[in-house]
Amino acid sequence: MKVLIINCGSSSLKYQVIDSDSEEVLAKGLCERIGIDGRLVYQKAGLDKEITEAPMPTHKEAIQMVLDALQNPKTGVISSLKEIDAVGHRVVHGGEEFSGSVLITDEMIKAVENCTDLAPLHNPANLIGIRVCKELMPGTPMVGCFDTAFHQTMPAKAYLYPIPIEYYEKYHIRKYGFHGTSHSFVSKETAKFLGLDLNHSKIIVCHLGNGASISAVKDGRCIDTSMGLTPLAGLCMGTRSGDVDPSIVEFLGKKLNLDASGVLQILNKKSGVLGLSRGLSSDFRDLSAAAESGNRDAQNALDVFCYRVTTTIGAYIAALDGVDAIAFTAGIGENDKDVRSTVMNNFHYMGIRIDEEKNSIRGENVKISTDDSKVAVCVIPTNEELAICRDTVAVLSENK
Ligand code: AMP
Repeated sequence: MKVLIINCGSSSLKYQVIDSDSEEVLAKGLCERIGIDGRLVYQKAGLDKEITEAPMPTHKEAIQMVLDALQNPKTGVISSLKEIDAVGHRVVHGGEEFSGSVLITDEMIKAVENCTDLAPLHNPANLIGIRVCKELMPGTPMVGCFDTAFHQTMPAKAYLYPIPIEYYEKYHIRKYGFHGTSHSFVSKETAKFLGLDLNHSKIIVCHLGNGASISAVKDGRCIDTSMGLTPLAGLCMGTRSGDVDPSIVEFLGKKLNLDASGVLQILNKKSGVLGLSRGLSSDFRDLSAAAESGNRDAQNALDVFCYRVTTTIGAYIAALDGVDAIAFTAGIGENDKDVRSTVMNNFHYMGIRIDEEKNSIRGENVKISTDDSKVAVCVIPTNEELAICRDTVAVLSENK
C-alpha cells in the first residue's frame, strides 16, 4: 500500500509517501509559510530536494501542490491520486476520547473538535489538514494518530493532579503526555532490537529533542510520562521551562506587569536551555561548543538539562520497580553522546555501564551499554511517520 502521511501545523505541513510493504519512503517534504507567501520542498527518494516558491494562501493550495508534485510525470511517485491507498494524519490532542489510532469519520472529527480547548494551536491545524484531504481525495480512507493516545494507559495515580477533583471532572485537567507516537514506536523497537518480550518488559524511553519527554513503559503500556496537560511540563527543554513552582506565574507577572499568558509565553519560548544560557542558543551543538570554551551559562544549561533527565529516569525506575532497558531518541537523544554518558554515569550504583566507543556510533539502533551492564542502554532513532504509516495500515485492516 502507498500511504500519505500528513502532519499539519498552523502555517506549515510535513508529508511523506511510504510504501507500507517495504516501509520505504518514496517521497517527502514540507510546505512552509502557508498563509504568508508559500514554499514547497519536495524530494523523491534518491534525488535532490526541489524547492518551489508559490502562493499558498490556505492549506488547500498547499496540499494541492503536494498532490501535484507527487503526480509530476518526471519526479512524481504516483500517476494518479487513486494510487494513494490511505492517508495517515497526525493529531496532537485526543483528550480522553482516543487511546489509539482511529478511522477518520464525521463523529471522530467532532470528538477532535471537542478536544480543541486542550490544544488550541494544534488541533485546529490538524483538522484543517484532515478536511482538505477529504475534499481533495474523496473516498480515500484516512486514519488519525494522536500524540496523546499511547499515554492513555496511565493509572489515575499518575495522571491526576492533586487539585480539587471537580476540575478534572468538569474541565478534564489531568496529565495527558505527548510524543506518544514516538514513545510507542521506540519502546516497541527497543524490545525488538534487544530481543525482549515487550509484554514482559520494563522500558524507559527518553525522547530528547527540542521538545523533550520521558516515559515509563511496562509490558508495552505507558504507566507514566513527564509532559502534562500541555507539552510545557516535565523536563528542561530547548525553550520550555518544564516543571516550575506554579507560584512563579503570579510572582513574575507582578514583577514584569504581565498577565498569566504573558508569563506562560516566557516559560514556553524564552526558558529552558535558551533562557539559562542567557539567550545564547536552544541548540545543544552551540551550547556544547560554548561550554567547552568556558561559557558558564552554557554549562549550567547543559547541567540542568542532564540533571532533570537523570532524576526523571530515577523516578521512573521506582515507578516501574526496576528497568530492563533505557532508550534514547530524537535530536539530542540520538546525536549527543555527552548527554547520554553524563546521564547514565549517574546510575553506576545500580550497575549501569556505558561503552564509550559504542556510544560514539551514530545513525542506527545501537546498544551503548557494556555486555556486563545490569541494564541495556540503547540509541533507537525515532520515526514518527513510519509509526503513523504502520498504525494506518493496522486500523484499515481492523476496519475491513
Ligand atoms: P528534534 O526536536 O528531535 O528535531 O531535535 C532538535 C535538537 O536536537 C536540536 O535543537 C539540537 O539541540 C539537537 N541536535 C541535533 N543534532 C545534534 C548533534 N549532532 N549534536 C547534538 N545535538 C544535536
